[in-house]
Amino acid sequence: MHHFLAMTLAGEIPRRPTGEAGALRWIWHEQGILELQPRQPTRRALVISCAIHGNETAPVEIVDALLQQLLDGKLALSWRLLVIIGNPQALARNQRYLQRDLNRLFSGRWQQLPASDETVRAAQLERAISHFYHDDDEERWHLDLHTAIRGSHHLRFGVLPARHTPWDELFLRWLGDAGLEALVFHQAPGGTYTHYTSEQFAAQACTLELGKALPFGENDLRQFARTALALAALLAGDAAPEATAAPTRYRVVQQLTRHSESFVLYVPQDALNFTAYPKGTLLAEDRGERYVVQGEQAWILFPNPAVAVGLRAGLVLERLD
Ligand SMILES: [Zn+2]
Repeated sequence: MHHFLAMTLAGEIPRRPTGEAGALRWIWHEQGILELQPRQPTRRALVISCAIHGNETAPVEIVDALLQQLLDGKLALSWRLLVIIGNPQALARNQRYLQRDLNRLFSGRWQQLPASDETVRAAQLERAISHFYHDDDEERWHLDLHTAIRGSHHLRFGVLPARHTPWDELFLRWLGDAGLEALVFHQAPGGTYTHYTSEQFAAQACTLELGKALPFGENDLRQFARTALALAALLAGDAAPEATAAPTRYRVVQQLTRHSESFVLYVPQDALNFTAYPKGTLLAEDRGERYVVQGEQAWILFPNPAVAVGLRAGLVLERLD
């Protein structure tokens, strides 16, 4: 088969879009969207996406290596698998996005905006999912692999979309075995890819934050070794090596939104993700509205005062245990 990553970065798809590689059938649907089918029938459908943010390259390197192993017959496949390189144009330029943050555009949001590279891609990515998750009786998982902009008290962590039905504890346990030190549960809907697959297709879906974003070739892949190992085991249908400690669980209690130009975030620019603040701390202020820590303690995630007006400048968490 042609080299998936290289051709995707070059903006190409092969002239013959299907073929066989050992015990697998591959179908190249669109730029950066590749389906693999094992020969033996399976009731499990897995989506692995990466580079939804174009500057988050480490997950692309992990996925590319796993894909090579699958196609070379060195790794067995026990799922129907859809591999997605989210934003190839942004990835080729090592930019988070070109016009708009792709991971804010799903579930009815891209339709409200003027057409851009990212609105077109969000529509394609939604279509690819509906096409792939066509069988209601299949078990559905979606792992969206990212790296974070800043350092973190939990090096690797997962963010899970708001959901009406309970999470599969096996899924949550696998996330721990994949090296995630914390799980953050959203309480409100969002425009992320994992919110879309969870809400529309009841997929067990998680956004995995796997360390800090660095350019291609500069990633310290040892930091990601445990996750890569767990992914290989998952694909083959084997158990991953068990985590020594279960991830700490948090839920989002408040979103800090930059409503106006006068928004001020009091969390320092270089604060790590999961920095704790005691009760009463003033976290942000916007036109007289004050965001103050209500519970005994709160943890801050993704603080970013530089976002556009109307967007999220941070999340406030409380611990669940
Ligand atoms: Zn990201």
